[in-house]
Amino acid sequence: MMRSGCRMSLVMWIRVWVMVAAVVDVLGGGCLIAAGMEVGCGVRFKDEVASFKVAIFADLHYGENAWDEWGPRQDVNSTAVQSFLLDHERPDFVVYLGDLITANNLPCHDAVLHWFQAVGPAVDRKIPFASVFGNHDDASFEWDPHSGVGPDEPLQTTSRTELMDFDMSLPSSYSSSGPKTLLPSVSNFFVPIASSDGTRIVAIMYFLDSGGGSMAEFISADQIAWFTTTASKFNSDASIPELVFWHIPSIAYTRSGPKPNQPIEAPCVGSINDESIAPQETEWGIMNVLTNRSSVKAVFVGHNHGLDWCCPYNNLHLCFARHTGYGGYGKWKRGARFVEILQEPTTLQIRTSVTLEDGSVVSELILALDKVEPYIQQNVASSIL
Ligand SMILES: [Zn+2]
Repeated sequence: MMRSGCRMSLVMWIRVWVMVAAVVDVLGGGCLIAAGMEVGCGVRFKDEVASFKVAIFADLHYGENAWDEWGPRQDVNSTAVQSFLLDHERPDFVVYLGDLITANNLPCHDAVLHWFQAVGPAVDRKIPFASVFGNHDDASFEWDPHSGVGPDEPLQTTSRTELMDFDMSLPSSYSSSGPKTLLPSVSNFFVPIASSDGTRIVAIMYFLDSGGGSMAEFISADQIAWFTTTASKFNSDASIPELVFWHIPSIAYTRSGPKPNQPIEAPCVGSINDESIAPQETEWGIMNVLTNRSSVKAVFVGHNHGLDWCCPYNNLHLCFARHTGYGGYGKWKRGARFVEILQEPTTLQIRTSVTLEDGSVVSELILALDKVEPYIQQNVASSIL
């Protein structure tokens, strides 16, 4: 059977064009313009509520074993999980936290089709989303005798840049290919969350490419410099809370979490701790930068499907997401971590919990409870929105 994963192409492409044509009302929010920087557009609190909820979908692994029945069935299950969680929790934003696809199982160039399947539930519902790369998204194809591909046939993997260009073309995408100076690292960008009237920034989400696949697994000195410059430019007094998302846990996770396969005890909060952390290969100082910024409240990673805890680490929390997809290893109950920002007149609370595919909620935790100084945020917002 030749390239059954690719034979879906026509159907998928028709669906892409129908969707893109139908979804014309891109959600509101001011675009940030900064000299010399490629930056994203902001999202806003909805008028009627004082909370902003972010869903984190991690390790979906679409496109596994596209040549047999098992793989596509996992993708159907993953879409069902996403659809349930989106309709049940009604988040304002979705973070696709890497390993959206398993490129090493895709015997074709057009991994974008599986990428489109992965982000489809957010696109269908016109929910703003952003994607960051994991280690499987541009991994080289690993030849399989059932793939229908000859062992000597030349194969190209869809690059990070091509995947990101496609992602950015979707109507509710807030992803960005990031500064070109950081190549081959691609998904480095930020998305501010503004108040409903757009006059002040309530929080900022940062996305970093932790490598893997075609790259080494680490956050480079150049990425750290970009983060430092950007954060100090837009949040110089650290008055605005910052949340940071990347795929592969940093080495610091191994120093903050419970021992593998041991009970999760306070002050950590979580429901599964069933494997050893597989951290980045090296650390060039990103954790020092983050822990020296009082505004950074938490880092969220995926990668380890059998871990879903949050643990304090100096002034912030290091959190795993929850394995959302039916693709990828492991049979733990699927679910997603949610992060909710609640703004009151004088306080701002950030809390997180995990909602499972049966609707149960576990591992609730308050990540931050800060006093708000609106006049400072007002000044920052007016300078960048
Ligand atoms: Zn994974």
